[in-house]
Amino acid sequence: MAAHQEKKLAEERKHQNMQNDTKASQGQWGRAWEVDWFSLASILFLLMFAPLIVYYFIMSCDQYQCSLTDPLLDLLTGNKHLSDIWNRTPTLTYRAAGIYSLWVTFQVVLYMSIPDFCHQFLPGYVGGVQEGAVTPAGVVNKYEINGLQAWIITHVLWFANASCFHFFPPTIIFDNWIPLLWCANILGYAVSTFAMIKGYFFPTNAKDCKFTGNFFYDYMMGIEFNPRIGKWFDFKLFFNGRPGIVAWTLINLSFAAKQQELYGEVTNSMILVNVLQGIYVLDFFWNEAWYLKTIDICHDHFGWYLGWGDCVWLPYLYTLQGLYLVYHPVQLCTAHAVGVLMLGLLGYSIFRMTNHQKDLFRRTNGNCRIWGKKPEYIECSYMSVDGTKHYSKLMTSGFWGWARHFNYTGDLMGSLAYCLACGFEHILPYFYIVYMTILLTHRCIRDEHRCCSKYGKDWKHYTAAVPYRLLPGIF
Ligand code: NDP
Repeated sequence: MAAHQEKKLAEERKHQNMQNDTKASQGQWGRAWEVDWFSLASILFLLMFAPLIVYYFIMSCDQYQCSLTDPLLDLLTGNKHLSDIWNRTPTLTYRAAGIYSLWVTFQVVLYMSIPDFCHQFLPGYVGGVQEGAVTPAGVVNKYEINGLQAWIITHVLWFANASCFHFFPPTIIFDNWIPLLWCANILGYAVSTFAMIKGYFFPTNAKDCKFTGNFFYDYMMGIEFNPRIGKWFDFKLFFNGRPGIVAWTLINLSFAAKQQELYGEVTNSMILVNVLQGIYVLDFFWNEAWYLKTIDICHDHFGWYLGWGDCVWLPYLYTLQGLYLVYHPVQLCTAHAVGVLMLGLLGYSIFRMTNHQKDLFRRTNGNCRIWGKKPEYIECSYMSVDGTKHYSKLMTSGFWGWARHFNYTGDLMGSLAYCLACGFEHILPYFYIVYMTILLTHRCIRDEHRCCSKYGKDWKHYTAAVPYRLLPGIF
């Protein structure tokens, strides 16, 4: 009898310990469970003002030749009322709704219906069914990686139309830019709201959901980790990559076509923006399998931040340089153009090589060569929600020995190059570098906070070995 009771007690203790462990690791890893006032204030600010910021930028180009100060001056001096500006803003049209619906449907069809064939003939390209990282609940999701082929098919059709079929003008995106903005907003809000409802009522994986109890925080940062419809329609992979990033290069092409139509030529600055951003987009799709291991997929939950951000913020604000150049066609002198090209290519190379080093290191579990040598690293461990202990490695050599996020530094150099391509007349094209600096610095701090919770003392060893974040010796 006593033995039986002791066994029962031991089992209860074990169960209690497991619950505590689970709580601890749930609290440690992933996005917040509790919302502090600063996070809440930031979130409310973004929810209220991010759509206005996008509107302000696009409207200022449409009505004020891209001046960011003139609309404010007009309003402050009483020269114009808000209603005057609003009344001159193009409204939602059936044409834009048709174009947008067709566009999104086409991307869904490419994503869902055509399994990847690029990996069968492109050496070095990783496509087809790939596994993502282990989630906090210990799940490993499978993804159909076919973004490169979606991008190629879309662009082949675009060029075929522009050169042979002429079903629609290549300026179609620019010509419907503001009506399309309303469509993108409708989709952005619809998908974020749907994701929230889905998180409550029919989550894909209940164990990977997070509820803070704060409606605004949950709406913004998401509840579900990897919401899906059916086995394959993954919200994060679809909305981040397509329609937003596939559209990025098409939008730039449409802006270039508009320059051609308005001025009879495409300026070298527009070509630079198209080429440099084109390389970045193509790189994204070439490395879509690698993208499965980035913060967006591995750590962020799917809410308004990703849903609305992918539908509206990305296609509208990442393409500001091209839009600006339609209104201000800048022809750069050769030295300036070459300087921009060099900076853009150098930034891209650093960005790519740094990301590649980590990817190679993680894929081979450290059994590779970085700059001709075996990589150095720190062994670390962490717990998933089910209480299982996992092991990982943090590299401390190559670019990852220079700074903890040198990939961001390369990204920022490339971003600066896009802005510099637009000359120095206006501040609007420089929004991108300001935004990217804030985004990546915040992301770096956010990621480090998460890694610190995940790896504990092992992370401290790592930061002691690699003390700088973005710039060796400075930050
Ligand atoms: P990283 O690719 O830098 O991934 C960070 C994760 O990598 C960490 O959470 C950690 O994950 C792991 N890690 C960190 N340090 C090491 C190390 N020393 N060795 C091995 N693994 C390490 O960040 P992102 O996902 O944010 O960025 C990916 C790229 O996308 C970047 O180049 C960035 O510039 C770009 N980007 C571009 C954006 C844009 O809007 N243009 C937006 C965001 C990103 P783990 O838990 O697995 O250890």
